[in-house]
Amino acid sequence: MERRSFFKSVGVLCGFLWLPATHSLSSGEGFPKPGKDDRCPVCGMFVNKYPKWAAGFVFHSGARYFHCCPKCMVHNLLSVPKYQPGETRENIRQIWITEYYTTRQRDAREVFFIAGTSLVGPMGLDLIPVAGDRAAETLKRDYNGESILRLDQITPDILDKARRGQLK
Ligand SMILES: [Zn+2]
Repeated sequence: MERRSFFKSVGVLCGFLWLPATHSLSSGEGFPKPGKDDRCPVCGMFVNKYPKWAAGFVFHSGARYFHCCPKCMVHNLLSVPKYQPGETRENIRQIWITEYYTTRQRDAREVFFIAGTSLVGPMGLDLIPVAGDRAAETLKRDYNGESILRLDQITPDILDKARRGQLK
């Protein structure tokens, strides 16, 4: 019995030790900020002119790419060898977006993307990133959205619709 409780307390201790690391990863800290010379690899626009829409990713090599808006970032993500020759999507360490309501940088794999809304970003109609399912439902309702998606559910077809500026 004594041994079992010893292992139990070690487990609890490890849990506590892990908490701060997990928290700092998901709280939006540690994402790179676009500088004044960073251009979107997809459309060529200067990214720091659109701080509320910026999105990007970081490769394991440390190479960082900044995009003017979510749909340029997702387009790049689906065609990494085209825009970053020699790299693959599997080599990406960090993917971030700017959350719509808070304008804070967040892990793109932790938020929802609302497709088919009437909201317009730097490149027109876009896929709007929102944190939390309640906020996702609210945004979809308020801006006449069509669907709520996770990053890996955004297919080339859905992206094409957004890039062509089609609402539905
Ligand atoms: Zn762009």
